[in-house]
Amino acid sequence: MLFSKLKEEFPTLINNSSLLYFDSAASTQTHQSVLDRMNKYYEEERCNVNRGDFDISRKVSDDLEEARTSVGKLFNVDPNKIMFTTGATQGLNMVAEWYKDKQVVLISEAEHTANILPWIQQGRTTKNKRLQVIPIKDNGMLDMNVAEKLINQYGPTGFLSIHTTSNVTGIPTPHEKLIKLAHNNGMATCLDACQTPGTKKLKLFTTDFAVLSGHKLYGPTGIGILYSRLGFDKLRALTFGGDTANAYDFDGNITWHEGPSRHEPGTPNIAGILGMGTACEWLDWITYDKIEQKMMEIDLALSEAGLFDIEGMDLIYKNYRQNGRNVYTFNTSIHPSDISAMLSLENVAVRAGKLCAHPIVNKVSGGKGVLRISPGVYNTDEDIELLVKGLWKVMKRLA
Ligand code: PMP
Repeated sequence: MLFSKLKEEFPTLINNSSLLYFDSAASTQTHQSVLDRMNKYYEEERCNVNRGDFDISRKVSDDLEEARTSVGKLFNVDPNKIMFTTGATQGLNMVAEWYKDKQVVLISEAEHTANILPWIQQGRTTKNKRLQVIPIKDNGMLDMNVAEKLINQYGPTGFLSIHTTSNVTGIPTPHEKLIKLAHNNGMATCLDACQTPGTKKLKLFTTDFAVLSGHKLYGPTGIGILYSRLGFDKLRALTFGGDTANAYDFDGNITWHEGPSRHEPGTPNIAGILGMGTACEWLDWITYDKIEQKMMEIDLALSEAGLFDIEGMDLIYKNYRQNGRNVYTFNTSIHPSDISAMLSLENVAVRAGKLCAHPIVNKVSGGKGVLRISPGVYNTDEDIELLVKGLWKVMKRLA
């Protein structure tokens, strides 16, 4: 299998040598180079940024902008169109606030909670029709007929906010097509891109907004980006503080910074930004061609090891499997939390429950919850064999 030694570059997997990590959709492991970069900052360059004239302050300030450039390069966008956030959740909340006056918001049935609650808390519901939910069909794909109809119907009075890959089904949306449709009808768009860049190439430049998190692309926690196609100068700032204005006075005269920094008040997550930049450089270096190949090999290895033949485990939307996924979610005859708890005794990390996406999980499991296995680029043949053995054992014992 490709990258058979890559696991050794992920310290948590080395320092917990018996850990079988299959929870990468929740959080990927952090690459050694990312940790090295963050440690270098804390051990050799610790200071604040954009304020000091001394050497390390100037250097780290420049390095933060280099990190922004590395992120932009990976996603093929102008770095000035990227602001750093605490993660996808913050980005989605910001976009929801900017578009709160839109008559209607279109989401899909398979959104993560972070792309549902910010809209619902504005008083939008399916009942009052201010929230329109595009269904997932029986084959796991988004219902494009309904999507097209809704986009045509609401045009500029609507806003489309949709995932690129589902954290429950592992199935991508045809997001480029959806954005084109929306734009042809005068509708603005936001992509929740969290689940794509850990395993697949992603280009952002056609959407109006996109959000994602560093901890899902082999980077650090607590850092993410919000991409804005038209930049940030015309967007209302939602938080205020240091490093957002060139000048101001008590009479209320303010000259705001141009670019993303107007929306990044206060001392940033310096180590996180540096780590995120390094994670993007690492992905660029290792290449998505190879990562995609590896995920296909994992798909095949899971199949050969018998993951899809285990009695009492029923893969949701199974017809999609042959195209490769980053997550494999099962309805199980035994309660998924019992399986997950038993697996944890064998040091196997998987996920059970509603996966922060209650509507789609309730739909596919009848409210019971599901079991999710989500590999990452570091998983080996041995991991896969042990995972499947462990699952057989647990399912037999609990049957
Ligand atoms: N959207 C999707 C599809 C996700 O998988 C996640 C993380 N589970 C989020 C949004 C929220 O990301 P974060 O917790 O990093 O803000």
